[in-house]
Amino acid sequence: MNNFIEMDFDEWCDTYKPIVNHIDNNASFDNGYGGIMFETYGDEVAFVKEQPEANIWMYGDGDDGGSYVWNGWGFVNRLGYFITEVPCPPDTDMQIRVSYNWFYCENCSAEFEDPDNTIRDAFDEHDLEKCPECATLEEMTLVGLEKK
Ligand SMILES: [Zn+2]
Repeated sequence: MNNFIEMDFDEWCDTYKPIVNHIDNNASFDNGYGGIMFETYGDEVAFVKEQPEANIWMYGDGDDGGSYVWNGWGFVNRLGYFITEVPCPPDTDMQIRVSYNWFYCENCSAEFEDPDNTIRDAFDEHDLEKCPECATLEEMTLVGLEKK
């Protein structure tokens, strides 16, 4: 059984030190020195594959709608890869949260983080395609949320 470690993205960057993507100067996740994400195709993924597996990390969507970094090489839901100077410890599964899931309102196009799907579920339950931005006071009371 592997150890399971959860970490936030800043702590992971400080600890494992992702390297800058030298192939694409417009790579995602700019850390101040350049983008650190490698794409899943072409020269970039070829470079990733040349690295030791313990230094490869995968970025993708989690089942809860948030996005995460996981250690190792994988294909499921992957959006990109990172390579770190410091390898992942052996016999360890790591999960680094990058972002929470987002709520998108069909009615007013507002977008915001909804970590536990509290907002989505509250409006769904009453078949309201609204959000705290556009719901009336009565509708907010109906779904049981506080008007901001
Ligand atoms: Zn709305």
